[in-house]
Amino acid sequence: MAKITVKTPIVEIDGDEMTRVMWQMVKDQLLLPYLDMKLEYYDLGVTHRDQTDDKITVDAAQAIKKHRVGVKCATITPDADRVTEFSLKKAWPSPNGTIRSILDGTVFRKPIIANNLRPAVWRWQKPIVIGRHAYGDIYKARELAIPGPGKAEIVFTPAGGGEPLRVTIHDFKGPGVVMGQHNIDQSIRSFARACIAYAVSEKIELWFGAKDTISKIYHARFKDIFAEETSRRAKDLQAAGVRYRYMLIDDAVAQIMKHEGGVLWACRNYDGDVFSDMVASGFGSLGMMTSVLVSPEGEFEFEAAHGTVKRHFCEHQKGNFTSTNPVATIFAWTGALRKRGELDNTPDVMRFADRVERATLGCIEAGVITKDLFHLLATPVAKWETTEGFMNCVAQRLKESM
Ligand code: NAP
Ligand code: MG
Repeated sequence: MAKITVKTPIVEIDGDEMTRVMWQMVKDQLLLPYLDMKLEYYDLGVTHRDQTDDKITVDAAQAIKKHRVGVKCATITPDADRVTEFSLKKAWPSPNGTIRSILDGTVFRKPIIANNLRPAVWRWQKPIVIGRHAYGDIYKARELAIPGPGKAEIVFTPAGGGEPLRVTIHDFKGPGVVMGQHNIDQSIRSFARACIAYAVSEKIELWFGAKDTISKIYHARFKDIFAEETSRRAKDLQAAGVRYRYMLIDDAVAQIMKHEGGVLWACRNYDGDVFSDMVASGFGSLGMMTSVLVSPEGEFEFEAAHGTVKRHFCEHQKGNFTSTNPVATIFAWTGALRKRGELDNTPDVMRFADRVERATLGCIEAGVITKDLFHLLATPVAKWETTEGFMNCVAQRLKESM
């Protein structure tokens, strides 16, 4: 059988630990046998980032800007322990954070639903998509350890001259900590626009939550911009049957637990980080959560929402079997391929992506699953598969469908 040609390059961003192992399996077993594709490869494994002083991460982001479609493996964000473990020059910043701020994108996370898996929250019958604002707040904050008594202030010095604006944060009587956060109207606005566009195209309700009762300037700015943008697009929202709801963030959290789903929940950066993990585990497993970063210019980076699954990798390194779920990694690739096919106008590439997804869900729905899904099955099965066992099932089903 002739291979399917993917016309334009896809930016391939490799990563770390167990996800790097699964990355190779997905390519070798599901993609390379069927596709003739040009991959522009960037190795963001932690030691290679260290060798290049993290330049490779910036290069990868620039490549996504150029080719418009990328797919990324999970990567280690080094903390002090990781610096020691890999003898790194320093604790390099989160690659996802770096790529997000270069693309000024919004991250949408959507659970993959198989019809024989019961979500932990039984009310959730349809996907809850989390739209995470991907710029600023604590991810771009500057922090200071306060050594002792003294006054901490926020000072704004206008570029064009004039009186600085200042506000006292705290009069310290002893040691403590301070943090300065920022965001910019333009980024909040492109976030709101990306969320409206997603909600309109998927025809799902749009929620936004913040804490403007406490943060009457910072959080209130987000609320106001969302109000402006949703009223600007009121006709489109109405035509698509999309309702916009603003809620206090704690109310949104309470409401989501008793909602059936089919919602895009637009979240501020930190809320999106936290609640995407909550929603992922509520739906079953982090291994079933996909993620796409969308820039205002229409550049896309697909990935699994979970990390490098270090605990499983340690077992793998000892030569023990693992049962790690590769589904989100598979769907990162299919998402990238489908988007590439859409942009290149190559329906056969899009059809191939559908086939891979059907083969994957077909295994789960036939009761072939990794351990993380064992207790979620509506009809129990006798055993779960190893990582390799599950991959072999998908590869076999895909082969039969070609
Ligand atoms: P993690 O890799 O997401 O794993 C946390 C736990 O979730 C695992 O130990 C496992 O639970 C379960 N899990 C996650 N993905 C799974 C899968 N595909 N199949 C089965 N179980 C899965 O988070 P972490 O352990 O906190 O972080 C590890 C490293 O990943 C860190 O260095 C962090 O910086 C990095 N990270 C990267 C990204 C990214 O690049 N997008 C995102 C988050 C974290 P059990 O152990 O109970 O089986
Ligand atoms: Mg998180």
